[in-house]
Amino acid sequence: MSLFSAVEMAPRDPILGLNEQFAADSNPAKVNLGVGVYFDENGKLPLLQCVQAAEKAMMDKPAARGYLPIDGIAAYDNAVKGLVFGADSEPVKSGRVATVQALGGTGGLKIGADFLKRLNPAAKVLISDPSWENHRALFTQAGFEVGTYTYYDAAKRGVDFDGMLASLKAAAPGTIAVLHACCHNPTGYDITPAQWDRVIEVVKAGRLTPFLDMAYQGFGHGIAEDGAVIAKFVAAGLVFFVSTSFSKSFSLYGERVGALSVLCADKAEADRVLSQLKIMVRTNYSNPPIHGGAVVAAVLTNPELRALWEKELGEMRVRIKAMRQQLVDGLKAAGVKQDMGFITDQIGMFSYSGLTKDQMVRLRNEFGVYGTDTGRMCVAALNGKNIGHVCKSIAAVI
Ligand code: PMP
Repeated sequence: MSLFSAVEMAPRDPILGLNEQFAADSNPAKVNLGVGVYFDENGKLPLLQCVQAAEKAMMDKPAARGYLPIDGIAAYDNAVKGLVFGADSEPVKSGRVATVQALGGTGGLKIGADFLKRLNPAAKVLISDPSWENHRALFTQAGFEVGTYTYYDAAKRGVDFDGMLASLKAAAPGTIAVLHACCHNPTGYDITPAQWDRVIEVVKAGRLTPFLDMAYQGFGHGIAEDGAVIAKFVAAGLVFFVSTSFSKSFSLYGERVGALSVLCADKAEADRVLSQLKIMVRTNYSNPPIHGGAVVAAVLTNPELRALWEKELGEMRVRIKAMRQQLVDGLKAAGVKQDMGFITDQIGMFSYSGLTKDQMVRLRNEFGVYGTDTGRMCVAALNGKNIGHVCKSIAAVI
């Protein structure tokens, strides 16, 4: 008998598990549309020019690697605040935003979840139905009971907005509402600015705690456009949480660059909140790593590099949109009779294709086309070379 004899084998991560299966697949035509990663037209993970330029400058002046402050690089945290709230916005100017550098967007969510658990242990968490798979697991692991609010309407292919409002209205005060700021994962359907106003009214009236997950700022309509929802929450006089991820927008997945920002009532409150967030960081991993944060800070604070980043991010956004259109056209050409035009209504990295689990399994086993069992496909991994095979394969299983 060992200490671990009774330890059960955990199920594979539903998304990262697909990667393992993909790697083991010997089909030469295989295409990985499972994980949320942007690949360029050549099917390569891009290393952005702005990142290379920042890294070159850093290499020209090598720096020693001491510990970072618990909340990370100050210039990085300030750049995040600027990006999320606007550098000249009232919340930033008045100092009422508490920001910590975090290990990706996931790290930002977890630091926020741990802090919220201490703040309001009895609160429940609501995530969208469906949501990014890790939302439920992460908030459950932090000790919360996690429920869902209505979101996707499969028949309508869009958001069941009345249902969404009704479930948020029914939530008890203090409930933490995890909201996708833009580019909803997995469905690709966002609510409109006017609908956000209604959500904000309900959140405010019901005294819910909004937790905005912003993992795709700049992937939808533009950096400012995607971030505009934040200003709406500010204007409503709410205090709230925002997690930021630069994994996709900087193509820095493995560097784990993200942040948590908490908008507080005033600066004194933000100082106290920051002191508590630092305890969450300190007791988990002490302080964040340097490299990714330093690269992002260098790019965001240098006007030339920042312009280059915005250009490169814009190119990724435009290419994804073009692939959506080619997917619609390609499916039609491959003989799919049903209208697949909904794919271009969706935004961001993903498309909820409406395919069933059986169809997704067939796509994988017979054609080497990997998406999640829920029918989610990463359109950001399509390119001119693989799209034909993907369209023919989908047409064969539909
Ligand atoms: N939130 C959502 C909605 C996501 O899709 C992702 C990444 N797939 C994250 C958070 C986490 O981002 P990161 O990889 O930076 O931890």
